[in-house]
Amino acid sequence: MFKRLVAAVLGGGLFLCLQGAVWASSGEAETETEESAYILYDVNDGRLEEADSYLPEQIDRQRAERIWRVFAAIVPAKQLLRVQEYYVNGPENEGGASVIPVDDGLHTWQLSIDEKSVDLQTREDMENLAFLLIHELGHIITLNHEQVDADYSACQQRIELDEGCARQGAYINRFVQQFWTPEMLAAVKNQTAAAVISERYAGHFLDEYAATNPVEDIAESFSVFVEEEHPEDCRVSVAEQKICFFYGFSELVNLRTQIRAGVAEL
Ligand SMILES: [Zn+2]
Repeated sequence: MFKRLVAAVLGGGLFLCLQGAVWASSGEAETETEESAYILYDVNDGRLEEADSYLPEQIDRQRAERIWRVFAAIVPAKQLLRVQEYYVNGPENEGGASVIPVDDGLHTWQLSIDEKSVDLQTREDMENLAFLLIHELGHIITLNHEQVDADYSACQQRIELDEGCARQGAYINRFVQQFWTPEMLAAVKNQTAAAVISERYAGHFLDEYAATNPVEDIAESFSVFVEEEHPEDCRVSVAEQKICFFYGFSELVNLRTQIRAGVAEL
């Protein structure tokens, strides 16, 4: 049903997930573009309530709310409760989606999307959108307060992220220990392009975008885990091992089943 090609297209820049900028941030200030149209919704019990907006007539509200309904339809309740803001940005913003924490403790999250970057016509469009949204969900699942301690003070051997310090048993801690060598991490730190890293370590990444950094790698791998079948042989490549990685967690296998049921109904 889902093809790896989808991921490749996403990685090709059609949808850029902005989380990558967080991991690899080097302290350079983001330049503020001209005032952009937006609608900010509060999410209450999965339902949208408009909280703020600027030039909202420039935004296709129906499309924006339809995208939200897709997200709400495929994301199981426990995870959906974590998302308390939905931010729709207008034509001046770069196309794509992202998630950011709303509170300092990583309990609640904002989903942000450029509604104009998403097509909603065909079944394939809907599957592409589902892939994108599951990738964003992957960030929330791997970066929420149960996984990451916003306090850096005791990071030591664990993975340090812009959001905080990965907890001992965190998915991303295990993922990085298993799949990311110190050389790969150094390449990310030196801001080596994802294209270069994925070529240098052929067979290690499910698509080029996944080579951006471990945060993107685990989110992208999670999306492939949800949407594709179990690999016939996990040993074929490191990339396949990354899909199999998630099968080691029964709660994620359950989550996969629930998300796939939602996607089938779209
Ligand atoms: Zn991402």
